[in-house]
Amino acid sequence: MNKILEALITLNDLDLMIEEIKNPNYRDLGFEIDVQQKLEALEKARDEIRSKIPENILRKYDILKKRYGRGVSPIIGGVCMNCFVKLPISVVSQPHNNEKIETCPNCGIFIYWA
Ligand SMILES: [Zn+2]
Repeated sequence: MNKILEALITLNDLDLMIEEIKNPNYRDLGFEIDVQQKLEALEKARDEIRSKIPENILRKYDILKKRYGRGVSPIIGGVCMNCFVKLPISVVSQPHNNEKIETCPNCGIFIYWA
């Protein structure tokens, strides 16, 4: 898999984990100290992964994240799991090995082939 695409998927996962941890319902479980430590570790990992992604791609990721709540989406059965629109046959029929950075022709989110 493309290294940048791999980093984007990891960044997306980390961002979702950070949001989950910041959710008050999660904090109510009562492990306040653990939560703080976990959050710091996750944020450190996020900084590290962001440093591996080119500036222009990060900028786009951040815009997508704001708009959709995530910046990367899998394609399953030829359908984008962000906008649920089927990708054109011309795109789907090409070989996909996640070796290049692609975006959904409909919603613009970064995509990978699951
Ligand atoms: Zn889409």
